Amino acid sequence: MNAQPQSPVFDVERIRADFPLLSRTVHGKPLVYLDNANTSQKPAVVIDAVDRHYREHNANVARAVHLLGEEATAAYESARDGLARFIHAESRDDIVLTSGTTQSINLVAYSYALPRLKEGDSILTTVMEHHANIVPWQLVAARSGAKVKAAPIDERGELIVEKFFDMLTPEVKLACVTHVSNVLGTVNPVREIARECRKRGIALLVDGSQAVPHRPVDVKALGCDFYALTGHKMLGPTGTGALWARREHLQSMPPFFGGGEMIREVRFDGTVFADAPHKFEAGTPNIAGFAGLAQAIGYYEELGFEATHAWEQTLLTYATERLSEIPGVRIFGQAKDKEPVISFLLEGAQATDLATLLDLEGIAVRSGHHCAHPLMQFFGVPATLRASLAFYNTRAEIDAFVAAILKVRKLLL
Ligand code: PMP
Repeated sequence: MNAQPQSPVFDVERIRADFPLLSRTVHGKPLVYLDNANTSQKPAVVIDAVDRHYREHNANVARAVHLLGEEATAAYESARDGLARFIHAESRDDIVLTSGTTQSINLVAYSYALPRLKEGDSILTTVMEHHANIVPWQLVAARSGAKVKAAPIDERGELIVEKFFDMLTPEVKLACVTHVSNVLGTVNPVREIARECRKRGIALLVDGSQAVPHRPVDVKALGCDFYALTGHKMLGPTGTGALWARREHLQSMPPFFGGGEMIREVRFDGTVFADAPHKFEAGTPNIAGFAGLAQAIGYYEELGFEATHAWEQTLLTYATERLSEIPGVRIFGQAKDKEPVISFLLEGAQATDLATLLDLEGIAVRSGHHCAHPLMQFFGVPATLRASLAFYNTRAEIDAFVAAILKVRKLLL
């Protein structure tokens, strides 16, 4: 298997050379990084942009008329332009820059949902959500007397779509669905969901955290109302992210944070806020981080999703086959449309013990509940191991991963 070419069109070794961290060793072994759903590694262009910002351009955004301030503002705003292109937003002004998906969803919870919710209303989500797409809704539900309902999934880890549609009853004011599950890799049929929500006049928020690193996203074609994403899973620095929303929502939503940068005029008898998106961006943002995120987007654009997606799917199939050959391995999530995330357990071994021993072999995988308690409850397990792939992973790494499982299995069982 090792002798097979990596890909006739995708030169993964050349791509790996762009990621300085991938060449390091861990416990004396070559690093095999399979925790990409947690956070991706960063190409040198991103690291250099952050470094260059502090070495050459550091200043605050918007407030300065001097050249450094202009350069810092241009770098920050270039991330907004890049994101607008990346997710096909109609206008750069429909992109609010945030610290990540968590902030983006909380912004919608407090600025959009809370003022609209009342006793008896509900928010519909699904059993496969990350806590970031559950807990904010519970917090605003507790304040407003609304309820949070969760649509079920099946044993394959797919949303039972007809059930979801049945649950879109008149008291539902907002639906919140992940585009791709961070635990199962399941891709949800967001277009159909958006169509049904719109028919019923229900706003739809999509958590795009795990989708944007893997597939092209077109928010207009999806037809949702809100799309939340995080930068650090898509090659960008931590503490960067965005919320895209329909213009009418951004116009009607009050600011969530107050402070500098988000106002037009402040008076004690009434403050006038800036227009969206700036009214949602109070305070000094992660300027260096957004300078890096702009480069991350450029990097994706240069590679093209067609190539990266095909390679990731090749790796997903290969890894699933190889893992399935190991006696006692149970894989969670067999969706027809799946991104390269594999959750699994080895019969008789604790997930954390296995992950710890794999780490000693240089293999970085995640073990735990993956911030998805309701999903773990559905499968009746406290935790899983998760190997999550990126386009810079190789077949040889999957072979090393499987060999390491076979080796540590002997120690554990
Ligand atoms: N949603 C999903 C599906 C995720 O995988 C994550 C990150 N694990 C989040 C939300 C939260 O993202 P962040 O911590 O970057 O805000």
